[in-house]
Amino acid sequence: MRTGRTLPPTAAPVGATAIAAAVGAIFADAPVSTREEEIARYLGHAQAVLLSSGKAALAVVLEALKAGEGTRAVAIPAYTCYSVPAAVVRAGLEPVLVDVDPETFDFDPASLERAFARPDLLAVIPTHLFGIPANIDRVQALRGRRRIAIIEDAAQAFGVAAPGGGRLGARGDAAIFSLGRGKHLSAGGGGLIATRDLELAARVRSMVAGLPTPGLVRRARTALELAIVDLLVQPSVYWLPAGLPFLGIGETDYAPHFNPGGPVAPAVAALEGWSARLERSLAGRLAQSTRYITDCGFVPPGGAARPFLRFPVLLDSAGERTRVLAEARRLGLGVSGMYPTAIHQVPELRDRFREGAWPGADAIQARLVTLPTHAYVDDRDRRAIGALLRARGQSTPAATRSSRTAAVL
Ligand SMILES: *Cc1c(COP(=O)(O)O)cnc(C)c1O
Repeated sequence: MRTGRTLPPTAAPVGATAIAAAVGAIFADAPVSTREEEIARYLGHAQAVLLSSGKAALAVVLEALKAGEGTRAVAIPAYTCYSVPAAVVRAGLEPVLVDVDPETFDFDPASLERAFARPDLLAVIPTHLFGIPANIDRVQALRGRRRIAIIEDAAQAFGVAAPGGGRLGARGDAAIFSLGRGKHLSAGGGGLIATRDLELAARVRSMVAGLPTPGLVRRARTALELAIVDLLVQPSVYWLPAGLPFLGIGETDYAPHFNPGGPVAPAVAALEGWSARLERSLAGRLAQSTRYITDCGFVPPGGAARPFLRFPVLLDSAGERTRVLAEARRLGLGVSGMYPTAIHQVPELRDRFREGAWPGADAIQARLVTLPTHAYVDDRDRRAIGALLRARGQSTPAATRSSRTAAVL
């Protein structure tokens, strides 16, 4: 077990003021509608509705869309967070996997067209994975005049600038965001639905009003976890939870049996001063991502620096990835393999997806590592990460290689 300075793969410390506000809200109410109005305005949507998690937000918005429709297929990326298929299943709908292009981390165009050929398509979930903008124009063009909802999964893209102006998550019929640990704007848990569709917003609000209000235990746990996680993500301390596998830090599991809840007061209270905190976090992640490009020569999808939640790098092979991850773990560099499998390989979902192939998602799963972009990464860490990947023959200056042949996306 490694002891000593260890970077977490992702970290979004909230600070003492937010922690104090969260503790104060264990027994009190939090300003839910004020925060919802501020966030809706910031994102460029008419309404924002806070919930207990991003996964809950997705399940609820899908459930709200379902009413009165005979359609039940929901197209999701074949490489994404396990919470996405879990929310689809929880909403009583059928996940349909669309392959992901390893060059863009967005839907594979041909696979997306096949999903649109289904007559029972209810919704499509373009995903801004890591904060890389998904192509919404293409999804809108394929939809044409059909009644298919476009729900942007912006859980990893809170506040990230959109290519055409504004911020990611503002173009679909609705978008979901996560306020979970390690996301751009963390509140120690929570999620939200943003939408311009007032009818949908009203349906969502009436559903949320019917959800159980998080009780005292949940509220106390949220405030306590917020404080503990803020402490544990510090590099001087992170070796401890990282070295204790039974804590399950950073683990991903597929859990479709959950109860969506309304917003948890301490999490909402922790949003105090959220916009300044978010802007600082975005600026830091942009600076860090820019240095990976200029100093280390890594080329992200699309080429441009963005405030990536994690900086994605595709290595040459699965063997390479295994070696890099082991060495990075030994050195405590916060390099992560992201999700343990593509969605069709999730043990509980394998039976659903026996037919079909998602080679792009498989390639990403086999070769992806992500580099930390949070505020705890310093110059020495970055040099060590650069050297580790360079030692594997991965890094040559961006200018000398074509993007087509780039082994490092
Ligand atoms: C985190 C995440 C979610 C779920 O959000 P939670 O708040 O963790 O429930 C959904 N989609 C993506 C892409 C995510 O990264």
